Amino acid sequence: MQRVRQRRGKLTKAKPDLAKEKAALHRVLGEPVIQLEARPPGVQEILSRGGAVEQLRDRLDRLSGESGGRPCPVDPSKCLHQLRVDEDILYFPFEPLAPQKAVASYSIKACDRGGIAFLESPTGTGKSLALLCAVLAWQRRQAEKVTTVPQIVYGVRTHSQIKQIVGELRKCGYRPRMAVIGSRDQLCANETVKSEARRGRVSLNLSCRQAARCAVANLPGGCNLYRGLGQNSYAQRVHDRYGQAGRIWDVEELLSCAQPKASDQFPGCPYYTAHVLAGDADIVFCPQNYILDPSVSQCRSHHRERWSLKGRIVIIDAPGQCGDGGP
Ligand code: SF4
Repeated sequence: MQRVRQRRGKLTKAKPDLAKEKAALHRVLGEPVIQLEARPPGVQEILSRGGAVEQLRDRLDRLSGESGGRPCPVDPSKCLHQLRVDEDILYFPFEPLAPQKAVASYSIKACDRGGIAFLESPTGTGKSLALLCAVLAWQRRQAEKVTTVPQIVYGVRTHSQIKQIVGELRKCGYRPRMAVIGSRDQLCANETVKSEARRGRVSLNLSCRQAARCAVANLPGGCNLYRGLGQNSYAQRVHDRYGQAGRIWDVEELLSCAQPKASDQFPGCPYYTAHVLAGDADIVFCPQNYILDPSVSQCRSHHRERWSLKGRIVIIDAPGQCGDGGP
């Protein structure tokens, strides 16, 4: 009995009481803190040789196979009118109005010359549809001539406008591979991480990165949606639902990848999924800060190196801003 007590005494003495230290910290700081643990050994190597995001990207690349770089297909049932602009035939779902013809023609010219076009068209004249038809027709023509074609990056002012512009894409006859990207605030589906970020008054970006690191290292607090990205069946589901030419989807539909219908399917993170899909999409829709804010557009994080503005066709669709001194 004496020996057991001595052993317990030794153990207690050797181990610091972390709970007491934490409580003392809270007393001093006066408010709850989120403890950002030191990065556990080995995580850096795991990340650099490819975490769940890299695995998802590699699997999607394999599933896409040779479909990348081909002219985007068209849906003949929506190509009801043709508009000739120089050497291009543009397909429209209806006869375009005069302002739409002008927008389409100047957009094609700007793509050909590689310059900047500043186009203004009255509200309600259907300029977004004309822009989409023009740039997708131009991209199709390029894909017939060369192997790699510039991706189109289409920036809008608000998240609700993304829904509208995706609606316009559904109307037109072109069926590209598309992606929508957004912030973690919009696309994070882990309610625990989100509420911890709010409680701890730290940014969601920071909390997410911590949860992703813990997931990689199998530590408590890891985000299970991040882990799901690395599953084979998840990549297949993403490819089937979002990654193929002609799959038109918006943010709400993407969020459903965090809630699979069948119990044997893995949920995955919509935020990282969107950024991986953007790497190979023909057209990417995004809030305009992804284009105008250099801290976002020039970001070279491991999931976004294949998505930058360099060599892209960049569109900023900013209704109502032209007369306000906006972009
Ligand atoms: S990995 Fe995705 S779901 Fe998980 S915390 Fe980060 S953004 Fe949220």
